[in-house]
Amino acid sequence: MAESVDPIATDAMAPARDGEAATGTVIAGGLPDLAVEAIGLSKTYRKTGRNPAKLALDRVDLAIPRGSLFGLLGPNGAGKSTFINILAGLVVKSRGAVRIWGIDIAERPRDARAAIGVVPQELNIDPFFTPFELLELQAGLYGVRRSERRTAQVLEAVGLADKANAYARTLSGGMRRRLLVAKALVHSPPVLVLDEPTAGVDIELRQQLWSYVRDLNRAGVTILLTTHYLEEAEALCDRIAIIDRGRVLACDTTQALLKRIDNKTVTLILSSDLLDVPDQLRRFDAELRGTRELVLRYRPSQVPIDEILAAVRDCGLALADLTTEETDLEDIFLQLTRAARADRKP
Ligand code: ADP
Ligand code: MG
Repeated sequence: MAESVDPIATDAMAPARDGEAATGTVIAGGLPDLAVEAIGLSKTYRKTGRNPAKLALDRVDLAIPRGSLFGLLGPNGAGKSTFINILAGLVVKSRGAVRIWGIDIAERPRDARAAIGVVPQELNIDPFFTPFELLELQAGLYGVRRSERRTAQVLEAVGLADKANAYARTLSGGMRRRLLVAKALVHSPPVLVLDEPTAGVDIELRQQLWSYVRDLNRAGVTILLTTHYLEEAEALCDRIAIIDRGRVLACDTTQALLKRIDNKTVTLILSSDLLDVPDQLRRFDAELRGTRELVLRYRPSQVPIDEILAAVRDCGLALADLTTEETDLEDIFLQLTRAARADRKP
């Protein structure tokens, strides 16, 4: 989140090379192709008091390639935090398997946890420690040897070097979030997971955070983030999984997802009144709004925009303005979730 990240510090945060985790665990067979893999992962929260049992994840298959900046996108209650918390070892899965950096979380939970750093959704920081102390404590918990600690460097990288010895309670919200990122990085995990990193965060900090996440990713860290902001996933992630009600509805590269809906709208603002849609334009599903606005719809894969403009010229229409609208992730998201919900109605 530092506006410009010190390359030395960024490099220091890159995952250890040659398949060797920071804790010294040698992972057989070198670097895995998948940073995280979930196979048939389900989670049912047990009934408690008046709350009925809840199926929060329903046979989730997800493959997160090493080096990707992966977005887990879904509305509130979709199961995103449940997924993250299973990776973090905070929630116990009900069924299925998960591997982090090639390590099965059920077989070798400690090694799996060493391969991942998790930034939780809530800003839970002990107010009576300083950032320096908090990071040292965290490094200790992860068994990072004193000689291998890079506490000052990590603080520098998140732009908190000058707050190293301030009480955490005196830090602003933005600084606290950066401190949580630093905390997740002390053991140089090759995979960094951020649960809704920008929920309730102002625009400036959001931009800083995005740029910092991109820098880490460029330095080789695989990033998994959850979000319910579509623009965030679209702007930041190279791959996106859309989940809703515990199920994966789509998982693809961002580009491929955006191409799925082959639909565009062009709006013509006319410089004189029009009373009816000209026949030549009916094939573009034309709709007249008032007398000066004409909306045309087309499939960019089948109809070049030139053809539409030529048809408009042939009708002798004079234009005052013209705008086109791309489909965005929101359209795809709505289409997928509506279809899935319709399918599952009894
Ligand atoms: P998201 O992070 O996408 O908003 P969550 O994973 O937090 O979704 O929640 C998924 C579903 O599981 C929700 O219906 C939520 O109410 C339920 N849930 C989450 N945590 C618990 C819990 N500890 N006990 C019972 N139900 C839970
Ligand atoms: Mg959540």
